[in-house]
Amino acid sequence: MSTPLFNRVALVGLGLIGSSIAHAARAKGAAKEIVGTARSDKTRARVKELGFLDQVMESSAEAVSGADLVIICVPVCASGAVAREIGTHLSPGAIVTDVGSVKGSVVSEVEPHIPERCYFVAGHPVAGTEHSGPDSGFAELFEGRWCILTPAAKASPEATEKLRAFWSMLGSNVDVMDPEHHDLVLAITSHIPHLIAYNIVGTVADLETDTRSEVIKYSASGFRDFTRIAASDPAMWRDVFLSNKDAVLEMLGRFSEDLSGLQRAIRRGDGDALEQLFTRTRNIRRNIIEAGQETEKADFGRIETIPSKKD
Ligand code: NAP
Repeated sequence: MSTPLFNRVALVGLGLIGSSIAHAARAKGAAKEIVGTARSDKTRARVKELGFLDQVMESSAEAVSGADLVIICVPVCASGAVAREIGTHLSPGAIVTDVGSVKGSVVSEVEPHIPERCYFVAGHPVAGTEHSGPDSGFAELFEGRWCILTPAAKASPEATEKLRAFWSMLGSNVDVMDPEHHDLVLAITSHIPHLIAYNIVGTVADLETDTRSEVIKYSASGFRDFTRIAASDPAMWRDVFLSNKDAVLEMLGRFSEDLSGLQRAIRRGDGDALEQLFTRTRNIRRNIIEAGQETEKADFGRIETIPSKKD
């Protein structure tokens, strides 16, 4: 096992991402001690049972005191309030980061609460599942995935490098970009796909009862894939759309124009236009597989969901 990078890592928020960081940091020996807290008694009690932390604290203030790395792992719109709560309890020299899926709003809401003697470097591990809560975390979540750091212009380069080393140790590839660029890129690669999934599954939910039961009964893998994405945590995704409004609306505008183009091609019977687009999109899938971000294996969306016969 490698030498620990931090003496004490404090996690504020112990859902999918917080618990996965704890599992991964423990497995890789990235910290001497990992402590944390969650908002509710229920989650804190469950984390004690699961045993993936060295200590479960009753409050954020208690969790961060004495920590040299603090990671805020709560829904985006709650980050500012957490930062306000912990600001005066941070130890001198502590690095503070977060994992929020939107960066511009987090930077502007968290940074004012971080004292001069500490270092704030915002971050986003681009890794997740549709599950949430402390039971859903696992050590391999970040393996081979990207983690994007968005340090402010005045952020300490040493703190950024130390955080890069931490995420690399957890198995991630690390990139640095500015928060606005992050929000634009993620709007199209992650936020709009979720919005489309929520929309299409919502449309089915509103169909007449008879049709709806048939859609569910005969659901092809395409629809099943959408339902997986649309089962993602409602509070987390509410916050993503509220806090990345401009970039999402910009990308949604482009998406709607392209959708109108497809509508026109279908109405006119323009098979060439359809085939050309579908060929281009197939190549994009190939590029993602070649970049190691997806596997070639066919996925019927039911590999782990159908219980085996002996169950
Ligand atoms: P999660 O599993 O739902 O866990 C959220 C945690 O935050 C829980 O411990 C919860 O406490 C706490 N929390 C919720 N609302 C809070 C509030 N208002 N104030 C203080 N604490 C609050 O969520 P997650 O998937 O780990 O997501 C956490 C962050 O990671 C989000 O910012 C999200 O954008 C980002 N992220 C998520 C994914 C993903 O795929 N899920 C991927 C990358 C980044 P209780 O359990 O006590 O309620």
